[in-house]
Amino acid sequence: MTAEIDKLTKILKESNNIVFFGGAGMSTESGIPDFRSSNGLFNEKLNVTFTPEQLVSHSFYIRYPEEFFNFYKAKLIYPNAKPNAGHIALAKLEEMGKLKAIVTQNIDGFHQAAGNKTVFELHGSVLRNYCTKCHAFYDEKFILQSKGVPTCTKCGGNVKPDVVLYEEGLDDNVIRGAVNAIANADTLIIGGTSLVVYPAAGLIDYFSGKNLVLINKSSTSADNKADLVIHDSIGKVLSEAINKIS
Ligand code: ZN
Repeated sequence: MTAEIDKLTKILKESNNIVFFGGAGMSTESGIPDFRSSNGLFNEKLNVTFTPEQLVSHSFYIRYPEEFFNFYKAKLIYPNAKPNAGHIALAKLEEMGKLKAIVTQNIDGFHQAAGNKTVFELHGSVLRNYCTKCHAFYDEKFILQSKGVPTCTKCGGNVKPDVVLYEEGLDDNVIRGAVNAIANADTLIIGGTSLVVYPAAGLIDYFSGKNLVLINKSSTSADNKADLVIHDSIGKVLSEAINKIS
């Protein structure tokens, strides 16, 4: 473990254009469970159990908005959770001028809360919500306090979280920014996700830099592609390595 941290420290010292790509494992260390690990929802009327993926799909949102928001409020919003040591370390790395961008699959806004400025949120953010009619902005608190389907106080339209649901496309500008950052990086650190899951796999293909680092608690089928693999807590690894160079 110490040897691996030393190797990561050396890479960070020598790199000046680092990009961090994070998945669900980054947020589970802040106490936010991966919603995919939760039980589905049984609908008595239809006598069917919906999977977590179905519950956050576009078609489910359209057909069963009330059930969608029940699940969304219970499983996707964690107002009391906070950024962890990993988020804080990455903010420090950006402040040093070494980290150029974060690409994340998470929707909790923790990287910005920790202080990072350049964050590409592939799947959007629970902190942003918009009226589907007049585009008025609403915060997370408004959604949590609403009963059933949240509606706009100005025009009565439905308020939808700025979160990319299953069956919905990713934002072109976010993708472009992420691809550009990865293509220009000298070091790519991937944390809390395997390289094989969409859209990670496709995005990683744009990386042509020197060091590919993979930090994940368990091994993944992508381990052999990386220059350095560390199987441990992302928060612990990042904070130890980044503290050594600051
Ligand atoms: Zn409205």
